Amino acid sequence: MKRKEFLGLAGAAAAGSLVTFRPALAQALAGGGKTTLSVKIMDLKLQYAWGLSRGTWTTRRNAFVKIERDGVYGLGEAAPIARYDETAEGAAAFFEKARPVLERDLWEYAVRWNELETLAPTEHAAKAALDMALLDWVGKKLQVPVWKLLGLNKAGALKTTYSIGIDEVPVMQEKIRAYPDFSVYKIKVGTKDDRKIIEGIRAVTSKPLRVDANEGWKTKEEALENINWMAGMGIEYIEQPMPADRIEDFAWLKQRSKLPLYADESLMKASDIPRIAPYFDGLNIKLMKCGGIQEAVRMVAMARALGLKLMIGCMVETSLAISAAAALTPLFDHADLDGNLLSATDPFKGVKTVKDQLVLNDRPGLGVEGEIF
Ligand code: MG
Repeated sequence: MKRKEFLGLAGAAAAGSLVTFRPALAQALAGGGKTTLSVKIMDLKLQYAWGLSRGTWTTRRNAFVKIERDGVYGLGEAAPIARYDETAEGAAAFFEKARPVLERDLWEYAVRWNELETLAPTEHAAKAALDMALLDWVGKKLQVPVWKLLGLNKAGALKTTYSIGIDEVPVMQEKIRAYPDFSVYKIKVGTKDDRKIIEGIRAVTSKPLRVDANEGWKTKEEALENINWMAGMGIEYIEQPMPADRIEDFAWLKQRSKLPLYADESLMKASDIPRIAPYFDGLNIKLMKCGGIQEAVRMVAMARALGLKLMIGCMVETSLAISAAAALTPLFDHADLDGNLLSATDPFKGVKTVKDQLVLNDRPGLGVEGEIF
């Protein structure tokens, strides 16, 4: 199949899922009893210190939500993003704000999704958690996996990269050795020693690499010099080379870069895509940035229409949120869904990572087992 045909099909699948989803939702939510909401905050201990251009963490604090109705429950997870001033406590406070809408009528909440926007303009991770919990609940109520509910085929699930956070070069090398089964690694850079980092990684593996600067290169000249040096080092593409708001500099960089450029911090939702599309080759879509599965599907359709490549990424998350993102991977070109592997705390079992292949299961909803409430 030609690439153009494939992209057309992917776009149609994305748009189709929105059309077919609504009747399924209506059926699941018809009648029924009272809805209750439970909220929990949990600290996730990390396998290794997690270093990015903007800081280093040894634990992450995520917020969890459980929607229960008719003897069925749905679970959601918020991995708050510090860059957008989000915290687990803020996510939990948002769940409380949403509680009256949810407990009044779950159907009303589902169809008036925009009402959540009026409760808080941000809290994207908390919104993602509620969307996740709703779809988990609907899937369980209808006894259908979420990937099937969205019109997708689990055989299309992708392989994931394994991310190497910024650290001393020997520590970064050790992480590659500790996770030998991955076909592609994602390397975090954005320091003064980026060339040493890439040379150090290249000393221990010849596999393809993807590089994420997390806005760490501060001028277009610095970004171009680094990118064109990396083009000779077996790098597939560069994620977010410069600060998100430098749109004019991105236009300059795109004309000169020897490697494809992917946007991450430069976008959140579907409405951002037309504005930034001319300056990037691809996008990194994350549930925690965009506010959930339904918005992610809208983003896929918009991005494909504009000819962009797509990766789906994550924060440090348990297998709950990773399973939600993994269900969408048949719509994407690349997946970076290793948040559950980066965490030493994972109370859930869901999508499996077999070597580096994401393996979706046939259990209803998000296909996740585990109890924390
Ligand atoms: Mg990134």
